[in-house]
Amino acid sequence: MTPSTTRTAEATVDLDAIAHNTAVFAGRTDAVVMAVVKADGFGHGALPVARAALASGATWLGVTTCAEAMALRRGGVVAPVLSWLHAHDEDFRPLIGNDVDLSVSSLEHLDGIAGCAADVGGVANVHLKVDTGLHRNGARAQDWADLVRRARDLERAGLLHVRGLWSHLISGSDARAESVGRQVALFDDAVAHAREAGLRPEVRHLANSAAALDAPETHYELVRPGIGLYGAEPDPRHGHGLRGAMTLRARLVLAKRVPRGSGVSYEHDYTTPRDTTLGLVPLGYADGVPRSAGTSARVWIDGRLHPVAGRVAMDQFVVDLGGAAAQAGDEVVLFGPGDDGEPTVLDWATWAGTIPHEVFTGIGTRVPRRHVGERALAGRVEESLIG
Ligand SMILES: *Cc1c(COP(=O)(O)O)cnc(C)c1O
Repeated sequence: MTPSTTRTAEATVDLDAIAHNTAVFAGRTDAVVMAVVKADGFGHGALPVARAALASGATWLGVTTCAEAMALRRGGVVAPVLSWLHAHDEDFRPLIGNDVDLSVSSLEHLDGIAGCAADVGGVANVHLKVDTGLHRNGARAQDWADLVRRARDLERAGLLHVRGLWSHLISGSDARAESVGRQVALFDDAVAHAREAGLRPEVRHLANSAAALDAPETHYELVRPGIGLYGAEPDPRHGHGLRGAMTLRARLVLAKRVPRGSGVSYEHDYTTPRDTTLGLVPLGYADGVPRSAGTSARVWIDGRLHPVAGRVAMDQFVVDLGGAAAQAGDEVVLFGPGDDGEPTVLDWATWAGTIPHEVFTGIGTRVPRRHVGERALAGRVEESLIG
């Protein structure tokens, strides 16, 4: 027998779906679109996603850490990039040298950045963040005046430029939440104060995916969609035709007949209700298959849904195939866009009691990502040009 070159498991990422979803966001706003590609593009691959989004209507990229921002620059991305979560005393010099914008929430942080700018003889582009109620990052209202004043002084000293003012919404999925209007009002106050103090920001931004789709009053000059770019509707009750970009599939590594009454997997949480065929899937919670999805979960094999049997282990789980004529090598789809009836990432999130963001970002490093679609081809050409 010739050994197979097919992988036992992989996540394919359809960059045409990313492009389509980016265009949906661009079509719903007059603001510019910042594609949020933190956490390796929500597990989809930050660089290919960034390229597909930038080719389809996005003009900015958003990431969390300095390392994520630098990886984009090293990958040849020249578009504006904002990085928004740091310690105040990180080494910001490479970021400033590579024209990465930095979010700032405190005086210490502002001084740390200004010090690095002085060191490299550059000007740091910063976005001052105000806390409008989420109570994570961002300056408190009572500290805003000091932050704005210091930023203005450092701007006059030629060390930084306040390019943006921003905040983040409390509601991750419901753009009609009552909190949205309250946050808009507090944000507008903070902006007005900054302008009175002499700042001239180019971009104000507040909206995540949900708000970018359905709350135009939050758009200002820039919106920051994340989850929607990857095809999960932020509010499944109000869909916008977003297309799931990732398909997670594997191949059965074993199929075997067992009698009725056979306990399956650790602690025998599942017992076969009849003589049946069990299929072994080589993906476990180390690969991001949520253990908590338990026996509610279903997978798609040969055009039908089959239940997960027993506990998901670190590296594998078992499927009860009933009388299906399954054999080792058969394809198993855990989730995909849902077009053919296969489960979606939202199904898995629901089974596991979580959100699609966590399912996507939980997919482990053992699962190779394969990028497909016209954009993937274009990306390869572009890559060869970048050298
Ligand atoms: C993750 C994130 C986003 C994107 O949010 P989604 O709900 O995924 O669209 C936007 N802004 C900030 C600050 C974030 O951390």
